[in-house]
Amino acid sequence: MKVIKTVADFWAAQRGYPRPLGLVPTMGYLHEGHLSLVRRCWEDNSTAVASIFVNPTQFGPSEDLSTYPRDMEGDLAKLEAEGVDLIFAPDASEMYPDGFDTTIDVGSIAQRLEGEHRPGHFQGVATVVCKLLTIVRPDNVYFGQKDAQQCLVIKRLNADLDLGAEVVVMPTVRDPNGLALSSRNAYLSDEDREAALSLHRALKLAESRYEDGVRDATMMRREMLALLESEPSASIEYVSVADAETLVELNSIERPALVSMAVRIGKVRLIDNIVLES
Ligand code: AMP
Repeated sequence: MKVIKTVADFWAAQRGYPRPLGLVPTMGYLHEGHLSLVRRCWEDNSTAVASIFVNPTQFGPSEDLSTYPRDMEGDLAKLEAEGVDLIFAPDASEMYPDGFDTTIDVGSIAQRLEGEHRPGHFQGVATVVCKLLTIVRPDNVYFGQKDAQQCLVIKRLNADLDLGAEVVVMPTVRDPNGLALSSRNAYLSDEDREAALSLHRALKLAESRYEDGVRDATMMRREMLALLESEPSASIEYVSVADAETLVELNSIERPALVSMAVRIGKVRLIDNIVLES
């Protein structure tokens, strides 16, 4: 496994590797969710590349960039065990050298939900993913449904700018209690972890109502909010029942719906979602 820190070295190194080539972009502090993407990458490709880059431009000024969990040594050991060929792990100065002055704004899909609550977030994501796809030129690139809106933004970006990768979305990996795995779970105390299960409970509530035939999205949002509000340490940013393609809020669920939420448990901001479809 080669660990590469510069764009020039990556271009030189990747020449000898067979196609198809798959890329798994990450911000590190890897868990089984990330590794599920790596394993799928192996199924589809002859060469597996992972990137580790905590992208500063997707964090807002009051967000957790400086405290974002990092463990490069542990991450490299996990990727080595999965047989990954190449790791691209640039420094911020390699990705954003002095004078860097280009950003990418994806349109309406990036403005809702997370876009509304984290101004500038998807501009940072789209810009760094565009750069990663341009540097690595993968045939296939892997993302997790856990970040459902990110997947939609990247599909739009990839199509609109002819970046030429197949975007593969993998299901959310959860712990045995249903908590979606996330690098940020490392910040949760034992008590917080218990409280964080309310997100999954709210999604299960929506799912069971849907299975009972409920199609009233307003009622569904209201019931989920009531469940989350009953958790004293939860502070709710949004609960959404939206068209799964456009993310426009629904009144009635007549087509696939993305049920999603952002909730703070103590200082930790968690997101989770499911898709309801018949
Ligand atoms: P991150 O390191 O948080 O930027 O995540 C890197 C990739 O892993 C993104 O495509 C995420 O959507 C994906 N990912 C994160 N958590 C999970 C999870 N629990 N299950 C599946 N994929 C995940």
